Amino acid sequence: MTASEPLLEVENLQISLAVERGRLNAVRGISFHVAAKESVCIVGESGCGKSLTALALMGLLTRSATCTADRLRYDGQDLLALQKSQQAAFRGRDIAMIFQDPMTSLNPTLTIERQLCEAAIRRGLAREEARRRAVSLLDRTGIARAETRISQYPHQFSGGQRQRVMIAMALMERPKLLIADEPTTALDVTIQAQILNLIQELRREMGLALLLITHDLGVVAGIADRVCVMYAGRIVEQGAVTDVFARPLHPYTRGLLGAIPVPGVTQPGAELSAIPGRVPELIGEVSGCAFQPRCPVAMASCTLSPPPMRKARSGSRSECILDPEVERVQP
Ligand code: SF4
Repeated sequence: MTASEPLLEVENLQISLAVERGRLNAVRGISFHVAAKESVCIVGESGCGKSLTALALMGLLTRSATCTADRLRYDGQDLLALQKSQQAAFRGRDIAMIFQDPMTSLNPTLTIERQLCEAAIRRGLAREEARRRAVSLLDRTGIARAETRISQYPHQFSGGQRQRVMIAMALMERPKLLIADEPTTALDVTIQAQILNLIQELRREMGLALLLITHDLGVVAGIADRVCVMYAGRIVEQGAVTDVFARPLHPYTRGLLGAIPVPGVTQPGAELSAIPGRVPELIGEVSGCAFQPRCPVAMASCTLSPPPMRKARSGSRSECILDPEVERVQP
């Protein structure tokens, strides 16, 4: 990887799933990158394709899924050129993932030690060294008496503690990129903040790049350098988090921001608004802009052809027919 090359580069990623009524085009040609040590959030409502994107990067899609991309590079390696077994070795070691639900992500029949150490031992780390590293990571993630508790089973841990264990597990092989898919959704509000702070601290300490998947724009503000806003399988806006929050370009981003109180942006006493309708089911081809039925500024021409990608002076990109201020660029 050269100094200017991103750690992760995704170009024209498409994922479709076989469903009863045909093919569901869940991710429809998205492109983004994550630089070394950078924090990028993919945000959007449920059903927009965020989690599938994360699973595709980890090679964890189900058999009913078809996944293609023009480019999928990690740390200078072309992931598409690797054999399946090579891909599996690569992912999990160099790219690690924290899943949504810590209550079901751990195997209830195995000790925490076994679950933390197994993959690292299989890849050649000595058992004692793996245990030492696991205890140290459990300790760092806030598990008290880690030396003792490593011998316990998942049911002996609370939800928040299990997510700490999952974070320790993800970091066992010292990855450069951590993917976190809604890591706090299943947790109590107070624990959510602790877990997000922990991820942020560890990211800085270990020099990790982070790709965080979330439906919560409030989370994005505190943790991201850049944000990709995803709607109906497309990234409809991406840019530096400060620009996207201060000057959102896409009507969907404006809708998401209008639905949450944003410190420094939402005026005291201002009413929050909801986006009407819901994310469409993407069976078959979409003609025009998929946000059109919910868009407050839609025009008749929005249904005729896919909206162009435009780039603002700030560098933010938005996929919308509107905004004469910004130039039209290649997606
Ligand atoms: Fe709204 Fe049209 Fe822009 Fe789509 S292209 S977001 S419908 S204005």
